Amino acid sequence: MELPDIESAGADDRVVIVGGGQAGAECAATLRMLGFAGPITILSEEPTHPYSRPPLSKGYLLGDVTSTDLYIRPPATYEDQRVEVRLATRATAIDRDTQTVRTDGPDGVDDVSYDWLVLATGGRARLLPDSGAHAASNVHTLRRLADIDEMRAQFTPGARLAVLGGGYVGLEVAAVARKSGLDVTVVEAGPRVLARVTLPLVSDFYERIHKEHGVDIRTCRFVESVEVGADGRAVAVKLSDGVTLPIDLIVVGIGMKANDELAHDAGLAVDEGVVVDEFCRTTDPRILAVGDCTRHPCAQNGGLRRVESVPNALEQAKVVAAALTGNARPYDAIPWFWSDQYDVKLQVVGLCPSHDEIVVRGSADEGRSFSLFYLKDGAIRAADVVNNPRDFMVAKKLVAMQAEVDTSRLADPATPLRELLVDATAEAPGNGSRDG
Ligand SMILES: Cc1cc2nc3c(=O)[nH]c(=O)nc-3n(C[C@H](O)[C@H](O)[C@H](O)COP(=O)(O)OP(=O)(O)OC[C@H]3O[C@@H](n4cnc5c(N)ncnc54)[C@H](O)[C@@H]3O)c2cc1C
Repeated sequence: MELPDIESAGADDRVVIVGGGQAGAECAATLRMLGFAGPITILSEEPTHPYSRPPLSKGYLLGDVTSTDLYIRPPATYEDQRVEVRLATRATAIDRDTQTVRTDGPDGVDDVSYDWLVLATGGRARLLPDSGAHAASNVHTLRRLADIDEMRAQFTPGARLAVLGGGYVGLEVAAVARKSGLDVTVVEAGPRVLARVTLPLVSDFYERIHKEHGVDIRTCRFVESVEVGADGRAVAVKLSDGVTLPIDLIVVGIGMKANDELAHDAGLAVDEGVVVDEFCRTTDPRILAVGDCTRHPCAQNGGLRRVESVPNALEQAKVVAAALTGNARPYDAIPWFWSDQYDVKLQVVGLCPSHDEIVVRGSADEGRSFSLFYLKDGAIRAADVVNNPRDFMVAKKLVAMQAEVDTSRLADPATPLRELLVDATAEAPGNGSRDG
């Protein structure tokens, strides 16, 4: 790919990053690592230094890890690296003409000037259509540390929990809740859990695992209303099939909404996320965007897509830091993701691309380890790997090279995946073994 002419930051330029999450923190750290010496400011509306969100629905909710374990970097590192972090400070408007960001923080309103602005605003939890239900003190969403702190106090053995939404995060909460002795019902509007992100085989596997752990899964049903008692606490959930579930608490896990209003109000292109090109540039060349808040070109399938995953946030942050330090390279990483539920680790690379063939390696109907490969025109395009991190490392390489392999060997767990990788590498164009 011929690189466009991309302006890099001057030595004294000021980089302002809106959002102190995974992507914002990584962007600041990588800028320093690549030698950028100018001032960097992170504006973070949360009161905490950047922390990692994945453990929120796993070890942190379970009580296995503490809030300080979640820090992406020890807070002192920011000062050491001359990165100013303004906590509890919300960016409220961007003035592109004067290159300033209006902020609202502990010391009141301020205008912060920038030479380069990086939007790393992530997303917020999607709410129930009956958003009034969220006022109840035992109806929770899952995005921030504070959300988990609130719900964890109500995670008492025997409490009746309704998880609304059978996506990864909802199912992770269900798994932790069962480990904590709660009585758990998962309500999913679609015909199966994880319907938005994977194939029925994987959904069936997870339904089996959760049922084995005593979770009551109810699909094809949505919440009609949440009944709130006189004390302001939700007491029951009425479902679309007429059933009323008495509950002690509710966790709403029905997805995320990108925080793109700041960009929209500044006149940047947004489309359920801040629209960026493969260098993470918005429609203003001085404003870039990274992480969950972006809609970016999908190198695998074409079109624009939004990816909610740590690897995506990290990679986009690196792409921005590279561009600003004069080492521009496009974002073309293949997205990947993981989810931990009970003793089951799912790792996904390629995120459900278009495919015309599925190869199953191992059995999803019994046991706790199998893999699913998605092929198109004979080439491996994606893989869902359950409880086999070693195979996942190889699967990532097979997907990256779009390897064409013998599918009967791929389906056979007795054939080491590495052997297929060795064969595919030898066959790859440029290695001299194909066509003489
Ligand atoms: C419960 C949970 C479990 C997850 N598990 C996994 C997992 O297992 N694997 C995985 O790969 N991914 C997982 N994810 C997704 C992953 O955490 C996100 O993809 C990642 O955090 C995205 O990073 P980000 O920096 O783009 O956004 P965020 O981490 O959301 O950070 C954005 C920050 O910007 C702040 N902000 C927004 N607007 C403003 C403003 N105007 N001014 C100032 N600050 C602002 C927000 O408050 C937030 O602090 C999980 C997410 C959640 C919520």
